[in-house]
Amino acid sequence: MNGKASGSTSRNGYIGRFAPSPSGPLHMGSLVAALASWCDARSNGGTWLMRMEDLDPPRESPEAADQILFTIEALGLHWDGAVLYQSLRHDAYQQAIAELARQELVFACDCTRQQIQENDGIYPGTCRDRSLANRPEMALRCRVTGTTLAFVDRIQGRQQQNLEKEVGDFVIRRKDGLFAYQLAVVVDDAWQGITDIVRGIDLMDSTPRQCYLQQLLGYPGPTYAHIPVIVNREGQKLSKQHMAKPIDPTRPAPLLLTALTYLNQNPDPALTGAAPCDILAWAVSHWDPGRLTGIAALQEPH
Ligand code: GLU
Repeated sequence: MNGKASGSTSRNGYIGRFAPSPSGPLHMGSLVAALASWCDARSNGGTWLMRMEDLDPPRESPEAADQILFTIEALGLHWDGAVLYQSLRHDAYQQAIAELARQELVFACDCTRQQIQENDGIYPGTCRDRSLANRPEMALRCRVTGTTLAFVDRIQGRQQQNLEKEVGDFVIRRKDGLFAYQLAVVVDDAWQGITDIVRGIDLMDSTPRQCYLQQLLGYPGPTYAHIPVIVNREGQKLSKQHMAKPIDPTRPAPLLLTALTYLNQNPDPALTGAAPCDILAWAVSHWDPGRLTGIAALQEPH
């Protein structure tokens, strides 16, 4: 799973993706993730797929998915093929749960969030052996083991996590009946044949759970590159929660230059005033994820 310092060599078979959750309009933090994964795919001569992670209707707004796609398109980040909507993939998630259950790794759980918080957020295995009936209001968890899972992140280097000690048995179907992100992302990355995942570092902690599910379900393991999170001057992650401004897609060129600056790509000053397609062509030919090596957070410029 070792990465390359530079993305300039072409590699056949590369399939990347952008997988937004439509819980609001795109902001600079998510644009930076989209641009990084697009540049990485294109500079490797790869395919770039779009997946709408619309798994959680109560937290989503009906317009957000279309708005995100419109914005990505307006910025010139064209994707290949049709958009995959997770809301249409419930049967596949159910089948994956059935396979894990066949391996006797799934159990129903009625623990409250508060009970788990009292154990530092690590699930202590309370319901593992209670054999609760799988009723609709129960969460389903996947049993973990005490082995340490390791992967080599192309940007952040070697990572490891002991799932039992650091996470515990984790939810694969929530008690509101919705499928959990951890399960759906793994099923769909495999379904779409994703080979290379480039996404925000806030998801790095989830990666060992995803590698574990890939192993259990017999899926190939993609490579991972987690890009630094953008923080504001107060050190808070640029996110919907911290009121990051939605992106205005009517002026794509300056947005792309800002996003490339965040990604430490040092866009050529001669690109000021250039057309978005020229900025993107420059970005692909100069894309160097090595410029982000070991960086976990990037601050908004003053
Ligand atoms: N849907 C997730 C999000 O918007 C990203 C999933 C992923 O890239 O693995 O945060």
